[in-house]
Amino acid sequence: AVKEKGRDGWQFFSEALQEQARQRLMITNGLRTAIERNELSPRFQPIVAAESGRIVGAELLLRWKPPMGEVSPAVFIPIAESTGAIVPIGAWVFRAACLAEVDWRQRWGERAPYVSLNLSTRQLSEVSLADDFASILQETGADPARLLLEITESSLMADVDANLRILRRLAEFGLRVAVDDFGTGYSSLAQLTRLPVNVLKIDRAFVDGINKSAESRTVIRAVIGMGRALGLKMVAEGVEDAAQWRELCGYGCDFLQGYYFQRPLEAERFIETVESASGDDPSHETDSLY
Ligand code: C2E
Ligand code: MG
Ligand code: MG
Ligand code: MG
Repeated sequence: AVKEKGRDGWQFFSEALQEQARQRLMITNGLRTAIERNELSPRFQPIVAAESGRIVGAELLLRWKPPMGEVSPAVFIPIAESTGAIVPIGAWVFRAACLAEVDWRQRWGERAPYVSLNLSTRQLSEVSLADDFASILQETGADPARLLLEITESSLMADVDANLRILRRLAEFGLRVAVDDFGTGYSSLAQLTRLPVNVLKIDRAFVDGINKSAESRTVIRAVIGMGRALGLKMVAEGVEDAAQWRELCGYGCDFLQGYYFQRPLEAERFIETVESASGDDPSHETDSLY
């Protein structure tokens, strides 16, 4: 009986592996035609000023809906990175961010929210990246100073020297840079100050810890204090309740993002949300990301 069970177990395992390989292949193939088939779309999750709650920015989060059904970016982005599909997809994302920036600035002028977008290091190592971005900026007329490139701490620190070179070029265009998922990688302060970074986005895991232990609160408070001492703006991600909001305000965190405020929204819903909030207290006109 034991033997049989073991064999069933193996068979199950092997079938699961085959299924996984099949899925991966479908995703790899599907990603090749995702752009031409119009299967990509952006969501925009508001980023709010901690004190006033005013929407000062939005993170563009990519969604992919092939005929087989929506696939999470946590699944398809790593595959796109390993196959190289992230390069054309990343250019599509950059263009979508530029179009949003232009649209929002036309609607709301200088008070329009800035646009934050994710960049993977696979894109940074593409020699044509800077030229591609420059031509998309020119073609769309987007203001680079209102675009923030989010790069995860772990990938940024994997090759600081190579990334430094390309980030300097992008920064010369006027683009801003944020370290995403900050606190999960291993950056030293010395490395951080070498990079042209404007914003740190504190990883959700830290925010999670706020309700859990005094130690977590001490750590997140110290991280926020350190970032601010370096002259960086601090964004906390994954804020899910009012208690976390209050704590983060007390620590001097500048900006907040999370389901407590809004989920990632379709473009039209994002616009409605900003419009319906625009009657808010105008005494915080100075909230600005940089
Ligand atoms: P990320 O850049 O750290 O984005 C934050 C993720 O946390 C998003 O998941 C967002 O929907 C989710 N989130 C926001 N607020 C909350 C909250 O309060 N609670 C919880 N539990 N989650 C929250 P999403 O959209 O599934 O994206 C996952 C990851 O996929 C992103 O993590 C990013 O690394 C990657 N990604 C998404 N879009 C792009 C893209 O256009 N390019 C690249 N290279 N990566 C992308
Ligand atoms: Mg991000
Ligand atoms: Mg993040
Ligand atoms: Mg993340």
